[in-house]
Amino acid sequence: MKVSVDSDRCRGHGVCVALCPAVFELNDDGYAQARNPEVQNENEEAAIDAVDACPEHAIVVG
Ligand code: SF4
Repeated sequence: MKVSVDSDRCRGHGVCVALCPAVFELNDDGYAQARNPEVQNENEEAAIDAVDACPEHAIVVG
């Protein structure tokens, strides 16, 4: 599973970071980015929770 954050959509709420800090982080501008686009198996469930919870639908899977 791969993830990326659409920087045009992200508003920096940080919901993804709160739900899945192993995969997402906020950059210096306060917007989310994937620490590593390739999600490890043990983080997939939390990453999917973050995808579903993002209010801007900014997390792209695949
Ligand atoms: S939850 Fe969505 S809008 Fe908020 S920081 Fe994460 S990717 Fe950006």
